[in-house]
Parts: sequence; C-alpha cells; structure tokens
Amino acid sequence: MKNEQAIVIGAGIAGIAAAIRLSVKGCKVRVFEQNAYPGGKIAEVKNGNYRWDAGPSLFTLPEQVDELFRLAGENPRDHFNYERLSTVCNYFWEDDTFLAAPADEKQFASRVAQTFGLTEKSVINYLKKSRFIYETTAPVFLDQSLHKVGNYLNFKTLKGICRMPRLGIFSVLNSQNEKQLRHPALVQLFNRYATYNGSDPYRAPAVLQSIPHLEFGRGAYFPRGGMISIARELYNLAERRGVEFHFNTPVESIETEAKRVKGVIALGKMHEAGLVVCNSDVVPAYRKLLQKHKAPEKILEQPRSSSALIFYWGMNRIYEELDMHNIFFSNDYRNEFDTIHQGRSISEDPTVYINITSAYQPDDAPAGGMNWFVMINVPGNTGQDWDTLIEKSREAIILKLEKRLKKPVRNHIVCEEILDPVLIEKRTSSFQGSLYGSSSNNRYAAFLRHANFSTGIKGLYFCGGSVHPGGGIPLALKSAKIVAGLIR
Ligand code: FAD
Repeated sequence: MKNEQAIVIGAGIAGIAAAIRLSVKGCKVRVFEQNAYPGGKIAEVKNGNYRWDAGPSLFTLPEQVDELFRLAGENPRDHFNYERLSTVCNYFWEDDTFLAAPADEKQFASRVAQTFGLTEKSVINYLKKSRFIYETTAPVFLDQSLHKVGNYLNFKTLKGICRMPRLGIFSVLNSQNEKQLRHPALVQLFNRYATYNGSDPYRAPAVLQSIPHLEFGRGAYFPRGGMISIARELYNLAERRGVEFHFNTPVESIETEAKRVKGVIALGKMHEAGLVVCNSDVVPAYRKLLQKHKAPEKILEQPRSSSALIFYWGMNRIYEELDMHNIFFSNDYRNEFDTIHQGRSISEDPTVYINITSAYQPDDAPAGGMNWFVMINVPGNTGQDWDTLIEKSREAIILKLEKRLKKPVRNHIVCEEILDPVLIEKRTSSFQGSLYGSSSNNRYAAFLRHANFSTGIKGLYFCGGSVHPGGGIPLALKSAKIVAGLIR
C-alpha cells in the first residue's frame, strides 16, 4: 500500500473523503475533477450581498466529518465547527395548523400532543421504534458492504437479519405511519422523511421510519460558514495531506489490462494507477468511462430518486415565523408523489421547503433581508419542458406562500437564481439530475445499488451517492469508508 498510486474520479464529498482515507493508508492520491471547484453537489451561489448553499441544507451525523480529521491526526475543532439546532423544522399546513418541531424528543412529543390531540406516548413510541430500526439496520445495511459474503457471517449481521420482519422491510412507509400515528397531518410529517433519499412514501418500505431518528435522536446541525464549509474544509484537509487535485479535468475512460485497472485517460492523456476509485455517478461511469466493459444493466435501470427545482431568492424583508428549515405542505401529498414518480411531472400544489441560513448566519443576507432557498421535489430529467414547468411552479409557490403566510412574497424578491434537474446533471453528471442515486421505492432497492467495488476489474472501486449504501452526505461518507476498508 505504501506509495501505491491511487486515482479518484470526482471531487464530490465522497471522492474527497476517499482521497483522505487512501492518503492515510499511505497511497499517493490524485483526484481528477471535471469542475473548477471541489464539493460536487455541495456548492454555493452568490448574488450581490446574498449567499446560499446551492445543494444540501440539512446536516446530520457530523461526527463522520470529525472522524476524517482525527484519522489524519488533526483536531476537527481547529478547522470545522457546527451547532445543533434546537428546532428541527417549522411545519405549515394550509388549514393554518403550525408546528415548530423541537429537536428534544420529549418536547416534540408534548408539542405534537397539544397540536394534534394525540397522546405523547404514541409519539415517543414512534421515535423509539425509529431508533430501534436505525440501530439495527445501520451496522448491516449502511456500515459495511452488502456484497461480500463474509459480511453476512458475523453476529451483528445475523442478529439484524433475524429482526428483519420487525424492521418494516415488507410493509409500506405510509401504511405503517397511518397505523401508528392516526392523525393525517402527523402521518404527512413523518411520510416526508422518504424524501430524505428522494423516495415516495406511498411506495417505499417502512424501514425508512429509521430516518427521523437521525434528526431527533442524533440531531440536525448547522456548520459554521454554511454547508459549503463541509466540502471546503475536507478539501483543505486532503490538500494538507498531499492529495493532488486536478480541476477542469474530466476523466474520459477507465483503462484496464488483463482484468486489472491500469489508470485513467483524462484530457487525452494516460495517468497510471493500480487503484481507481470512481466517485462519478455509476450510470455515466459505465456508459462513458467503461464502455468496453459489460454493464450491470439491472442495477443501472433502477428507478432514480427525485430531483429538485430550487429558487434562490434574495428577500428584502424579514419573516419572523420562519426558521432555518421550513415546510409548507401540499394539500394532496399522494397526488404530489404520483405526479413526480409516475407522471414524471410537477404537482400543481407542491410541498415547498424553504431553507434560510441567514437566520443563523446573518452575513448570508444584507441587514433586514433573508436568503431563501426555496425547493420543491421534481422528477429527474427525461426531456420534460422545463421552461414551462419552472414558470408554472414559480407562480404556484408564490401564491401558496402568500396565502399561508398572509404576507406578500412576490414584491420582496430582489434577486433570483435557479437550479433545475438539467443543470444538476450538467454540473455533477448525476444521471437525470437525481439527488440521491437510485430511489428506495421498492423493498429490494438496498440490494440493487451498485457495490463499492467492481467484480470484473481488480483495483476498481466505487463511492458516492449512486452506489451502496446510498445518497445524502452521511451515506456518501460511509461509502468512502467502506471503500477504504475494502482496500487492504
Ligand atoms: P457528487 O457531489 O455528485 O460529486 C461527484 C463529483 O464527480 C462531481 O464533482 C462531478 O463533477 C465529478 N465527476 C463526475 N464524473 C466525472 C468525470 N468523468 N471526471 C471528473 N469528474 C467527474 N444530502 C444531505 O445529506 N442533506 C441534504 O439536505 C441534501 N439536500 C440536497 C439538495 C440538493 C439540491 C442536492 C443536489 C443534493 C442534496 N443532498 C442532500 C444530496 C447530497 O448532496 C449528495 O448525496 C452528496 O453530496 C453526493 O456526494 P457524491 O460525492 O456522491 O457526489
């Protein structure tokens, strides 16, 4: 391993984490990134005195980032800091119901009981179950490769498998939530967690009930400097470790010889390496970089997770009722998901998410203003008429917000930037612009993500949101850890 040449394709968060881990193992690491900047989907947008995080806005499991600093012998607190949010989200329904969800489980249960007339115990029991599912499934499905027979022959995995019937793998998220929560608004609130990996709560398995534990049990955080600081500080750490970054350098192919990886071709030039870690989405990886090799068609054809349409609005006034994370629910949630996942279009009444970092980091907007990141879930790009969809959605969002807030919105937007599935695909090569690789809309989805290694090409590994264990920053970081663990 000492001085072994390693190449990482892509400087997304998983690619940077893999580069750090390989450098700690003693490899000489080069990262080839097609963009001019590191971070992939973790990027930022600026307009005048406004700044927005362009992609992810919710940060969970920050200890995974700390772990990378410690692994490299550094104190994370010298470089990267974050605070736990006391309110995880403000929820708004059109009938004027409002819930500011405290992060503390007991306070949340008490607030829910008051708002919806339920018992606190039913909410506490739900969160307990969420913890049980997370703690049982994470070691089996998230922390290790699912594609190594040896990983099934240990106690924790066998224990997890024995508990499978209790984990909700064989039932649907919405049905379980309806059974356990009994209030339509609360069912909707907990159904929304399916969108944390771009899935549909009316199709995805109830094992996704594990996700609320991440927010309530483990906490939602805000990194100082914004989400961009996660990518920036890990990039700086990688550089301090001697990782060489080559920006504006798209990899054109992965080269092999006698079923072993030999290196990559980038900008027409061969770069040799005995180890290649591909952080590119697995679909373009096979369709473009591995054209001479047989592609795992069944895996590549899995339905993708949803994409997003985002308006970055500079607002010239303060809305006191809004916090860092805010949700304005659709009145017809099932129809919204049917429209996205079956109709491949956008609902006329979409659920609107507004992230406002200036609520915690005033420099992100001028005094007396706010930086609104306004996002709706949309299907991946399959050639829809995006100009028309964007115009219609913008109007629907403004009307919905003005109606619920009972305050003008349109006239307070002083600048605007837009991100849509076409741009997401163009900027990150994420197939169809999906946010989280393939969706979890069926119970076998976890087994149908690509493995973290190639079975046909020795020395070729895969990390990132489109491969095992899935999308989102925490899982992308886990994929890099699994890859490093597979390389002996
Ligand atoms: P990417 O970030 O896509 O990085 C892949 C990199 O590889 C890119 O830089 C790309 O340019 C490069 N690349 C690809 N092909 C090549 C090539 N041939 N040659 C060179 N370079 C190449 N996650 C959360 O945890 N919380 C959230 O709140 C959240 N919200 C999101 C909102 C939006 C709008 C988006 C877009 C994503 C969101 N996510 C969220 C998902 C999260 O951002 C991703 O899962 C994660 O960042 C994926 O990291 P990655 O390293 O796998 O891939």
